[in-house]
Amino acid sequence: MLSLDFHPTGRHFLQIPGPSPVPDRILRAMSLPTIDHRGPEFGALGMKVLAGIREVFQTKHPVVIYAASGTGAWEAALVNTLSAGDHVLMVETGHFAALWNKMALQLGLVTEFLVTPGSDAVFPEAPHWRRGIDASQIESRLRQDREKKIKAVCVMHNETSTGVVCDIAAVRKAIDAAGHPALLLVDSISGLGSADLQHDAWGIDVTVGGSQKGLMMPPGIGFNAISPKAIEASKTATLPRVFWGWDEILAMNADGYWPSTPNTNLLYALNESLDMLLGEGLPNVFARHLRWAAGVRAAVNAWGLPIQCADEASYSPALTGVLLPKGVDADALRKTIHRRFDLSLGMGLGKLKGRMFRIGHLGDSNDLTLVAALAGCEMGLKLAGVHLEGSGVRAAMDHFAAHEARLGNAAQCNAER
Ligand SMILES: *Cc1c(COP(=O)(O)O)cnc(C)c1O
Repeated sequence: MLSLDFHPTGRHFLQIPGPSPVPDRILRAMSLPTIDHRGPEFGALGMKVLAGIREVFQTKHPVVIYAASGTGAWEAALVNTLSAGDHVLMVETGHFAALWNKMALQLGLVTEFLVTPGSDAVFPEAPHWRRGIDASQIESRLRQDREKKIKAVCVMHNETSTGVVCDIAAVRKAIDAAGHPALLLVDSISGLGSADLQHDAWGIDVTVGGSQKGLMMPPGIGFNAISPKAIEASKTATLPRVFWGWDEILAMNADGYWPSTPNTNLLYALNESLDMLLGEGLPNVFARHLRWAAGVRAAVNAWGLPIQCADEASYSPALTGVLLPKGVDADALRKTIHRRFDLSLGMGLGKLKGRMFRIGHLGDSNDLTLVAALAGCEMGLKLAGVHLEGSGVRAAMDHFAAHEARLGNAAQCNAER
């Protein structure tokens, strides 16, 4: 049995799609002393992170920071904007969409859970778990809703259970084309900080985020980025809310404080994360994840295994799902890889349980750690007797050798000096 004093040599390879590996810089920042959350220094910290996080959501509007995981921020998005019995439209892109749908039902909302049409030879059980959202399906459903009963469209930006990224701008266009007033609520818990996400430009009303994925932080912070239209909706929405209520938090945030005790040391981490991401520049951050994702896909293609996302235009920059041949137990494979190589891979969730594993390519990583992670996968696959067409590691090396790694700002400055 593993115990908490189990510390193998070298770094653990935390290659799950969140929590992602945390940079030492962020861990060190967290070790600063916890300060008085009503004192003067705290207000300065609060103001700084509240301003910085808006840049990451690419919004001029407020972002609410909760001491909670992403699930809490999901709940906050729903209870602040909706009332019991309200109809919401959701799309079953995968396991996380299903969980948000279940939460909406538990809160007393009436959900309609769309299934994207299509067939699939590789995973006939759920072809819609291999592709993104079809915005035209949302448009035609909203056009039918002449009484405007649907109050919100709730969709995934990056569906972490499948490795599929959805076109949120197209969803906004579909809502507008239908002339429908529904709010657009988006889960970007695993997109934020790894995939381009434009809260304002894409016309999102509430974007839900979390700390432990693209922001490279430990778990424990959840976010709601909110549009003026969402704030208006919150004034008449009647689902019960106390801790999640935006109004009191926004009022106190004006000076950098919170109504209840915030997670101070995680705010130090957020401050450091923002310095890193904004210092590198968001376009560089996104390009870096796209390069990693393409390198990992090159490896999976060389193995000859199917990528869970069947649509090239919807490949996730943050993770890649790998489907295994029928009869191979993906969870047993993951256990072997963990035991032999100290490498953690994401499990198949929901309908994909035991059928696939997920490789996270986000957080504190680089081309070489990804090559090493792929080596762990490749050795594990061979140990499990899975037939591989070729070496994924070689394909990934070829990919990374052919693509210049973008250096962070600091490194570039040093090079120019
Ligand atoms: C991780 C994740 C969640 C759940 O967030 P928690 O922090 O585990 O509560 C929800 N949605 C998506 C897309 C995620 O990746």
